[in-house]
Amino acid sequence: MLRSSLIYLSKASWARQIVTQWSFAWKAASRFVAGEKLEEAIQAIRVLNDKGINATLDHLGEHTHNSEAAERATNDILQMVDGIVNHAIKANISIKLTQIGVAIDESLCTRNLEQILSKAAENNIFVRIDMEDSPWVDTTIKLYCLMQERGYFNTGLVIQAYLFRSEKDVIELAKTGTRIRLCKGAYKEAPEIAFPQKRDVDKNYDHLAEIIIKSAIANGSPTVLDDGLMPPIPAIASHDPKRIEFAKSCAEKSGLPQQAIEFQMLYGIRRDIQESLVKEGYPVRVYVPFGTEWYPYYVRRLAERPANVWFFVSNFFRH
Ligand SMILES: Cc1cc2nc3c(=O)[nH]c(=O)nc-3n(C[C@H](O)[C@H](O)[C@H](O)COP(=O)(O)OP(=O)(O)OC[C@H]3O[C@@H](n4cnc5c(N)ncnc54)[C@H](O)[C@@H]3O)c2cc1C
Repeated sequence: MLRSSLIYLSKASWARQIVTQWSFAWKAASRFVAGEKLEEAIQAIRVLNDKGINATLDHLGEHTHNSEAAERATNDILQMVDGIVNHAIKANISIKLTQIGVAIDESLCTRNLEQILSKAAENNIFVRIDMEDSPWVDTTIKLYCLMQERGYFNTGLVIQAYLFRSEKDVIELAKTGTRIRLCKGAYKEAPEIAFPQKRDVDKNYDHLAEIIIKSAIANGSPTVLDDGLMPPIPAIASHDPKRIEFAKSCAEKSGLPQQAIEFQMLYGIRRDIQESLVKEGYPVRVYVPFGTEWYPYYVRRLAERPANVWFFVSNFFRH
């Protein structure tokens, strides 16, 4: 109930207008967001890199409403490529298709995506296409496949374990050696298309992790490179210790080298696990979001963990 209400609020523009005016709300959000400017995110990434952790940089923004805004977002992403190169940080990029115009015009989004992948490819940088809510899944996979056909191999997708369809998607994508970030799924989906129970999502997560790990072996077990720009095929994106343990043991039993699997977590969450995985010798990548459009991202983080809401509420009474 609390999760559904928060996911509803994450999309409500009236709520965004109210909350983003409260200075304490930004203070609370900054636990999960590296700053409003690219320079701040680069600084946060330097700190992570010093601990042996790679990053994926995300300029917050989604559901842009007109083509000018989609083009502005595309230009901001192109500047992130320059930022990574000029500062020699170990980071790649995450983007959302609704940020670069898919909801306005698919051909506009295709052009913007190709521009981003082309500049990133010139610099050997990988671009992960985040997965948004279910109305966008088909288009996201379609545009990813189109980019592969056009020769852009510096990109990969996200699969959400809560969707019933994901097994079929993973099996298809695994055939082409797609680099897949596996997550549980952050949106509100209907019980007709997604597992309503957490235990079923967890079970499906392990099942899909196994398929992706085996596909990595079938595709030559590519490893993460020293510069941190290209990820291996499986990216286990979870803070759940049981999912992480399952993936570690499945990779080990299947004979996948440690450097051919990556663990991904969100900025500000479970730093203890991030650091212990690095000590064990696994590649770790942290998702580092920045920008002024932090509201929907932050509210989804509240939805994932009720304790975060109490932190927000206590700040409200203290400010
Ligand atoms: C790198 C990365 C990229 C992602 N990309 C996408 C995407 O493209 N599309 C998408 O739908 N979702 C994405 N997600 C979000 C994901 O779907 C989940 O909503 C989120 O990761 C919480 O699930 P969990 O696997 O950590 O497990 P959970 O069972 O939710 O959490 C396990 C434990 O992790 C900790 N934890 C989890 N979330 C929080 C939080 N918000 N605050 C504090 N502690 C927390 C708690 O200790 C909790 O007990 C991404 C997640 C990661 C890590």
